[in-house]
Amino acid sequence: KAEPGLDFIRALITADNANGRFDSRVHTRFPPEPNGYLHIGHAKSICLNFGVAREFGGKCNLRFDDTNPLKESQEYVDSIREDVKWLGGDWEGREFYASDYFEQLYQYAEQLILAGKAYVDSLSADEIRAHRGTLTAPGTESPYRNRSVEENLDLFRRMRAGEFKDGEHVLRAKIDMASPNVVMRDPTLYRIRHAHHHRTGDAWCIYPMYDYTHCISDSIEGITHSICTLEFVNNRELYDWTLDTLGVYHPQQLEFARLNLTYTVLSKRKLIQLVEGGYVNGWDDPRMPTISGLRRRGVTPEALQDFCARIGVAKADSVVDFSLLEFCMREHLNAVAPRVMGVLDPIKVVIENYPDDQVETFDMPYHPEDTSHGSRTVPFSKVLYIERDDFREDPPKKYHRLAPGAEVRLRYAYYITCREVVKDADGNITELRCTYDPATKGGWSQDGRKVKGTIHWVSAAHALHAEVRLYEHLFSVENPNAAEEGKTFLDYLNPDSLKTVTAMLEPAPADVAPGTRVQFERIGYFCADKDGTPGKPVFNRTVGLRDSWAK
Ligand code: ATP
Ligand code: MG
Ligand code: MG
Repeated sequence: KAEPGLDFIRALITADNANGRFDSRVHTRFPPEPNGYLHIGHAKSICLNFGVAREFGGKCNLRFDDTNPLKESQEYVDSIREDVKWLGGDWEGREFYASDYFEQLYQYAEQLILAGKAYVDSLSADEIRAHRGTLTAPGTESPYRNRSVEENLDLFRRMRAGEFKDGEHVLRAKIDMASPNVVMRDPTLYRIRHAHHHRTGDAWCIYPMYDYTHCISDSIEGITHSICTLEFVNNRELYDWTLDTLGVYHPQQLEFARLNLTYTVLSKRKLIQLVEGGYVNGWDDPRMPTISGLRRRGVTPEALQDFCARIGVAKADSVVDFSLLEFCMREHLNAVAPRVMGVLDPIKVVIENYPDDQVETFDMPYHPEDTSHGSRTVPFSKVLYIERDDFREDPPKKYHRLAPGAEVRLRYAYYITCREVVKDADGNITELRCTYDPATKGGWSQDGRKVKGTIHWVSAAHALHAEVRLYEHLFSVENPNAAEEGKTFLDYLNPDSLKTVTAMLEPAPADVAPGTRVQFERIGYFCADKDGTPGKPVFNRTVGLRDSWAK
């Protein structure tokens, strides 16, 4: 019996287990092709496959689906291993490669030929396509379809031996050219590719196709539930045909809806174009929806896992709002990120009645609720920076921040009152002359007078000048995949997706290690970038404190 609230995949596995199917084992796999870096869509699949294995006391393999030598590389393999591990996927040493099965796959192909279930076709790729028919019209049989077993075997062995050029022949399954399922119209099993493979080198010049490889790999590894995305629904019939025809162990293929996310693209083919075209700064550019980009941006694995849990697993395609991902980022970072003060757009404040050379320090907790973060010492002096946006010369009603004549609390320090606004020749505000009340040390007043606003500040003489990278959506439209006639997704890139500013920070984060996440109080969450050096950190904005897209 399925527990209520289980998604359809977990419900199905629960039912299988109850029926003793697969001896009540659960064994999944995450099967990336190493032809690019993983993106957040893959995160959904990782959380599902590893999550299901964990919940049912089963196993999950990491399998590289490396059957296309032209597009794959070791760099991608390495990045995938790192990203899966980072996200919490533990394959416990079960790291497999489809290319490890090349010999076995070849032997199975000969077996199909001997059984009269596969033949060598010598039509060109274009001709094969033309013969395939359409959804409404059946296909046409190839003139080579009825070659003898002997001839097929001879040609296939010579294909392997390298006697033919790319495209001269292919091996096809002999199924049904009139099948209502186009996938079943004698699908190609092997093609000739004289290409160097990143693992098998030049050992092979014929390479097996995805559909043929995937089911057999699943079978070899004893996978029970082979979870893939919806576009493979029609391929399930071929999955089943291949394993049934070979008479080997047969896992269950299950399909779920892939993740689509607003304001971005989730396809390695498109992401490669962004990288190679120089539209972004590499695969781990913090604007990229790649796992490495999100990590560099400061997203935590917990936030991504939470996101994947919240979007759930369904059978119908949908588009998830990017703001849900931001919500998950904030939820977790709020709990774990230490607070520091930083001013992104500084305006100078001079405290007229504060002694010229005096410096005092305030001890501030790194986290308002979690004392395990400890505290840091923040210097205070006569000249400070505050956020330009925390001052209004002509404040609207109920404006609780600084304005001429108004009093405001400097976080943990003192109350100050603005006495004078200094401007340059063009009328730009260059400085605010203020006074402080020494009796309000610590940020409260014994006389109980009300000061509603609290703003953050940084001592100018002690300020850490830090490069801060402010990110917006990479695309300026919700669905860059739906390009107008004559345009591509590249025409919808947001020209303002990266803005770099020099922020004034309190001194504490001067030497943070790359990857360190902090909250700049009242602004947002930031993550130290690998481009920073000790004493000169660079910060990426992970996400603002509030939803800024809604404004
Ligand atoms: P892309 O279209 O980006 O190239 P892919 O499906 O070809 O993606 P694979 O490396 O084959 O990439 O994917 C590995 C696994 O991740 C597959 O099981 C695939 O179904 C799953 N996956 C890929 N993209 C998504 C997505 N957007 N949502 C959920 N799962 C996905
Ligand atoms: Mg794929
Ligand atoms: Mg792909």
